[in-house]
Amino acid sequence: STTQKVAVVTGGNRGLGFETSRQLAKKGYQVILTSRDEAKGQAAAEKLQAEGLDVIFHLLDVTNHESSKQLAEFIRQQFGKVDVLVNNAGIYIDDQAGENSIFDAKIDILEQTIETNVYGALQVTQALIPLMNENNYGRIVNVSSGMGQLHDMDGGSPAYRISKTALNALTRIFASELKGTNILVNSVCPGWVKTDLGGAKAPRTPEQGVDTIVWLATAADGSATGGFFRDRQPINW
Ligand code: NDP
Repeated sequence: STTQKVAVVTGGNRGLGFETSRQLAKKGYQVILTSRDEAKGQAAAEKLQAEGLDVIFHLLDVTNHESSKQLAEFIRQQFGKVDVLVNNAGIYIDDQAGENSIFDAKIDILEQTIETNVYGALQVTQALIPLMNENNYGRIVNVSSGMGQLHDMDGGSPAYRISKTALNALTRIFASELKGTNILVNSVCPGWVKTDLGGAKAPRTPEQGVDTIVWLATAADGSATGGFFRDRQPINW
């Protein structure tokens, strides 16, 4: 029905994106679980459907402009709106040689990381924002990281840090341009979470990791915008 809220999650086939899709669907949202891989995305959506949840799959490679446009066109025809966008898709390239010093950082690794983590989120948001504007309702959640906090740049991984800092800048710019509307845009650090990216040593489960993502995605009118949150609390940039 048109009253059911429609949520788009990028990188939904595994990790935090998969769990975010599950938790939003459990709250009654119609979830469009997107993945750049047809087979993996379809399998993930079917797993959630088997739990009785309203989840459908659509292909989306966030680095591909045509792919974003096709997703927007599909949603326009099927649902006519987007209520929630979770920009979750992200990569961390483990560059053994260059990962500890900015002076060894390889430009191609910076480019790939920024293309996915920053331009990807930008491009998908550009494609879907008209479907929020029409209803003057939107919750955009950019899945960032404490490694993007400018006040604490200790500890290697320069490409990833730069990408998440830039993603946070996007959050601020989006929020500024959307001031006075009911489209709220925030960044979130999920904490260190056991996923393929986070690794086996991470202390948090995906369910714990997505708590603040889902909280922001479902925030009431008049809630925060242009913020950066962890554990439902504002954190420093
Ligand atoms: P995973 O590596 O488990 O999942 C990443 C997801 O992003 C996969 O679904 C992957 O798809 C997808 N993805 C990558 N590139 C693209 C692309 N071009 N188009 C579409 N999808 C893409 O990582 P997490 O679940 O841990 O991470 C999710 C987000 O959370 C990331 O933005 C990450 O930076 C952030 N984060 C994670 C932390 C953690 O401890 N886990 C900590 C802080 C932030 P595919 O399966 O095809 O590769």
